[in-house]
Amino acid sequence: MMETEMELEGLTVKGFKCEKCGEELFNPWEAERVRKVLNEQVKARKVAHSLVVTLPQPIAKLAKIKEGDKLKWLVSKHDLILSKT
Ligand SMILES: [Zn+2]
Repeated sequence: MMETEMELEGLTVKGFKCEKCGEELFNPWEAERVRKVLNEQVKARKVAHSLVVTLPQPIAKLAKIKEGDKLKWLVSKHDLILSKT
């Protein structure tokens, strides 16, 4: 087994890959961490005339977003997607 990075629910997590058959296993601790983070709720707060939501550090870390990064919104009927530009 070699260490690798893979996608879980759209996020990059660490896992292992079998060099012989290519089977991929999530590091269970990583998988649990991603699920916890994605289940967290954030509240929209009012600041001046805007609504503000925070990007919790674990999500920022998983999404590899850092201070100063430029993001843009994609809005659909049910979802708001913050996309890295
Ligand atoms: Zn194998």
